[in-house]
Amino acid sequence: MTGRLIVVSNRVAPVDESKGTAGGLAIGMLAALRAAGGLWFGWSGRISTGAAATSPSVVEHAGITYATMDLTPQDCAGYYNGHANRTLWPLFHYRLHLTDYNRKDCATYLNVNRWFAEKLAPLLRPTDLVWVNDYHLIPLGEAMRARRLGNRIGFFLHTPFPSPPVLTALPNHAQMMRQLMAYDVIGFQTAVDLRAFRDYMRFEADGTIHTDGRVTAYGRTALAAAFPIGIDTEDFAALAAETGDSPKTQRLRTSLLHRDLIIGVDRLDYSKGLVERFCAYERFLELFQKRRSHVVLMQIAPSSRAEVPEYQEIRRTLERMAGHINGRFAEPEWVPIRYLNRSFTRRVLAGYYRTARIGLVTPLRDGMNLVAKEYVAAQNPEDPGMLVLSQFAGAAQELDSALIVNPFDTEGVAEAIEQALSMPLEERKERWEAMMDQLRRQDITAWRESFIATVAAAPYRAEPSWPKKKPLARSAF
Ligand code: UDP
Repeated sequence: MTGRLIVVSNRVAPVDESKGTAGGLAIGMLAALRAAGGLWFGWSGRISTGAAATSPSVVEHAGITYATMDLTPQDCAGYYNGHANRTLWPLFHYRLHLTDYNRKDCATYLNVNRWFAEKLAPLLRPTDLVWVNDYHLIPLGEAMRARRLGNRIGFFLHTPFPSPPVLTALPNHAQMMRQLMAYDVIGFQTAVDLRAFRDYMRFEADGTIHTDGRVTAYGRTALAAAFPIGIDTEDFAALAAETGDSPKTQRLRTSLLHRDLIIGVDRLDYSKGLVERFCAYERFLELFQKRRSHVVLMQIAPSSRAEVPEYQEIRRTLERMAGHINGRFAEPEWVPIRYLNRSFTRRVLAGYYRTARIGLVTPLRDGMNLVAKEYVAAQNPEDPGMLVLSQFAGAAQELDSALIVNPFDTEGVAEAIEQALSMPLEERKERWEAMMDQLRRQDITAWRESFIATVAAAPYRAEPSWPKKKPLARSAF
């Protein structure tokens, strides 16, 4: 790569790594930005009090330039809490009944993307490679092309991509798909997501899928491929080995009194299958009575998107369910569920994962699920715990030596918990080694390098001939 790397994402994470709060993705992006020298552009996470900002606030830190924009309350409501998180997020996670579409939010989403393109444009040099991340920013590439920016631009979707019968419920699906085709490379988490994209292009957009992975539709050609995101496997394993005996981990272990720990770590989000997980755990306690008093489920679930009503609702439901299960089964010296509605640093999580006999990861739909990968990487090679993993997590495509479950099958999940608890050491080791091999091969460095190399190989549009599109007629919605 000859030019700089420009990362664009909804939220920019100027991370002080010593605090240890950065997710795997932020760490991977930071490493890439440091290697190539570059810029990270996006929303600051702040709401402006007055009018919309006229230019980004620019900060340099450790060789990286951070350029961030504040959003107005109206833009945040329509773009972030509205179209991104109440329309695209549930739709992409196959939760049609939670998908709330309206034209006003959709228009705000488009306008914020155009505004980002306008503010990003003056910061770019022609040879810069631009990496746009996630569903908040689908229209950004087209908005950049409309400004006659000829840079190589890649888009990576961190969420699942829905199959055509679900996607076509979105009133402006054709507009969105045409916007995606403005990128040089469109990256998905798994082959399943890629297939859904290709099916749409072939059957709904009358497009062509070429043998080399390129897709032609709407008069545009782009390369579509799967790039499963990884974690910093070796670093995380080392962190877990180090924190496995930290004072915090020891306090947790002491509190367990030799009981087996099952751990769940998820943002409080309906896609994570937490309600179904609590039901399965209750069923497990009903079916396997001998396990009562000998096992503890610790569910860590920090709140997210608390302004969105569906998230407030799931929080109330889980509080009720944890209270119900604890009330039904608890003994004076044992509580079956520890429900923690707060976040922990990676460092603390690493030690907790290592202590847990089971990592319970049962989303109803998930782009990848990094927690599943972190849980595996954190295990003690001499006595690894077992991952119970939903078939609907992207991670299940790679971690097929986990106990794969259907989260809608309450008894099936209950039985998998029992199977994991009684699994002989030899079998646990065998399965763990197979998963670790995969995590080492496809770690976060391999992921970002293969994505960047693929975008870098795209034809360079030094003289962009991209036609300036008129906004779609209202009837197109
Ligand atoms: N995480 C964290 N502290 C917490 C809960 C989660 O640092 O209290 C991290 C977790 O270690 C993982 C990320 O947040 O790296 C969650 O990623 P995942 O892909 O599992 O789910 P997402 O939240 O992106 O849907």
